[in-house]
Amino acid sequence: MISLKLKAPAKINYLLNVIRRRPDGYHDLRMVMQRVDLCDDISITLQDTPGIKVTCGKKGVPDGPGNIAWKAARIMLDIADAKQGAAIEITKNIPVAAGLGGGSSDAATVLMGMNELLELKLSDLRLMEIGVKLGADVPFFIFKKAALAEGIGEKLTAMPDMPKAWILLVNPGVHVSTAWVYRTLQLTNSGELNRLPQLFASVEDLCSIFSNDLETVTIPAFPVINEIKQNLLRLGAVASLMSGSGPTVFGLFRDLLGAERARSELSDNTGWFVAVAETL
Ligand code: ATP
Repeated sequence: MISLKLKAPAKINYLLNVIRRRPDGYHDLRMVMQRVDLCDDISITLQDTPGIKVTCGKKGVPDGPGNIAWKAARIMLDIADAKQGAAIEITKNIPVAAGLGGGSSDAATVLMGMNELLELKLSDLRLMEIGVKLGADVPFFIFKKAALAEGIGEKLTAMPDMPKAWILLVNPGVHVSTAWVYRTLQLTNSGELNRLPQLFASVEDLCSIFSNDLETVTIPAFPVINEIKQNLLRLGAVASLMSGSGPTVFGLFRDLLGAERARSELSDNTGWFVAVAETL
């Protein structure tokens, strides 16, 4: 029996511009994304008998073929033309449907893990091509660097030397449907996009790009998102923003102590998920 224990990190978006709707129903985006060290734990065990078993036990996340990690494992077993199967256990620490890319990260981690276990030796580029069919954010997690993500999210350019920062993640637990957010979005973009700095020399440089077009949909419908943003600024965050299609909001802090102080304030009596994370 061969197994691997792996970490699947969450991501945050410092920038999310929606450029246009595409005829295929997707949107062309411009995003700046970075991974943070809030991780799902994944164990993958190759088995002598065929079939894939995913156990997760988290409300809202399917255990069987509906799980994106199951689909990732199926693709890799098919490529290997393997007689074996796989048992995958996922401990979800990343909030679900939260704008933190948890499912995509699980899928990317399973693609990379199965590549190793099955000794397929597929390149990261090939894994990214496979991954984009599972989800637009999957290639980013295989890329493993802070990135400018264009197209539907699969055209990745590394953003080197990101300033070190601490992140406070706050999820109010309201249900926001990603499909509804994109459907409701009024595209106002004239085609003119702000130039992005080549590199971010300071935390201020990084914060200067903070913007998420999807907040125009989510904040009016869920005022708690703005309430969290304001709370984070009041508690010392240099900037705060909603990640992805929400509802998770994050604040960027210069130091761990500041982030921890804000965490303990916001954890009290709110019922919100609150966690400090380090950028990766
Ligand atoms: P993104 O930021 O890419 O929009 P998200 O963080 O908003 O993603 P996910 O947590 O990836 O959303 O979950 C989206 C949906 O995918 C959930 O409703 C869930 O039922 C389904 N799903 C399938 N597999 C998984 C998985 N391994 N982890 C989380 N969700 C999964």
